[in-house]
Amino acid sequence: MNKNTADQAFVRETNLSLALRLIHTQSPISRAQLAGITGLNKSTVSSLVDELLERNLVHETGSNTGGAGRPATLVEMNPQAGCIIGVELGVDFVSVAVTDFLGNIIWRRREDADPTEDQEKMINQTLRIVKEAMAVGKKKNYHFLGLGLATPGTVDVDQGVLIFAPNLHWRNVPFVTIFSEQTKLKVFVENDANAAAIAEHLFGTARHSQDFLFVFAGVGIGGGLFLNGKLYRGRNGYAGEIGHSPIMAEPSQTVCHCGNRGCWETYANQYSIIQRVQARLEVKRSSIIPRLMVEQNTPLSIPLIKQAADAGDQEAIDSFTEAGHAMGQGFAGLINIFNPEKIILGGPLSIAGEYLLPAIKETVTRHSLPEIIQQAEVLLSPFGPDASLIGAIAIVVDDVLSHPISIERR
Ligand SMILES: [Zn+2]
Repeated sequence: MNKNTADQAFVRETNLSLALRLIHTQSPISRAQLAGITGLNKSTVSSLVDELLERNLVHETGSNTGGAGRPATLVEMNPQAGCIIGVELGVDFVSVAVTDFLGNIIWRRREDADPTEDQEKMINQTLRIVKEAMAVGKKKNYHFLGLGLATPGTVDVDQGVLIFAPNLHWRNVPFVTIFSEQTKLKVFVENDANAAAIAEHLFGTARHSQDFLFVFAGVGIGGGLFLNGKLYRGRNGYAGEIGHSPIMAEPSQTVCHCGNRGCWETYANQYSIIQRVQARLEVKRSSIIPRLMVEQNTPLSIPLIKQAADAGDQEAIDSFTEAGHAMGQGFAGLINIFNPEKIILGGPLSIAGEYLLPAIKETVTRHSLPEIIQQAEVLLSPFGPDASLIGAIAIVVDDVLSHPISIERR
């Protein structure tokens, strides 16, 4: 290919991606509206839309009959463009889902995993569920667009390698190689909070936001920083490890999984809530939690504490409130630094969002500069505990939106 042809191919792909992203955010939309927004001429836009139709990524839908002039045919995303497999590697669970191109879940499975088990065992458990998911897709004759994997820890996205996950004690795991060899699919790996931020931008509450932060709260606390319209990765791609900010003035006795003391997440993660409840129960406060544990024959867990809070148990509610205040300190710092439009809480702990959020907001109001907090909305992810699972799906969709020519014409 000579340079001129290569340039033309590049411009064509850039324009195709631009048109597809606009259809994704604005759908349904007419060719004339696309031309108006992009500044491209109408015949170019028509040829771009034709190609997206040939690649089955969009389809035509009704007409825009409002206003003067001839009604225009509208185009929208085609949910049947293909299916996607998403994998969320939690610290103590594995979740796998199959979705359509718009992130609608067709099939899903979640299994507990034991973080003390060896790495190979947890990966094999994940591969077994992925193969089940693929069988579901094949049976329904879906075209697979790819597999996305969201993991805690620092990730080298280009190499497809998990560099270090303190909560799993895993280092240098070549996820893309492992999963593409086993599935023959196009595989992507991303940090769980980053993936969730991409999901918020593509499918969630931040579809039209250019500056927002996603806070993943579970065993660890991670951040996805979406700034100036794209994910901010930092010098080496590891930006957003907000849970390990030494945020408290007085480091507590709790040692973080990273080996340090005083990390923000040790005050606000799920273990901290369990510890708060245990401390309250040790001083024999009246609570229904011990009875619930006996009745359900389970150890103390976030869902159980949430259940007690729902029944009005003050110890459960107060433990969430305390943790919410600790979370709020971190949120306030982030808001002061980044001046975001939104800061979104998701991940396993967000099941208790109704108890955490009022305390988070109270602390944020106290510690963020008034001019900044007035502009920032603190809210829960619509995907709640599935934020990173949908994130795993979103990283595949995002690649298709960037490289529509990678999808065959049919
Ligand atoms: Zn730490």
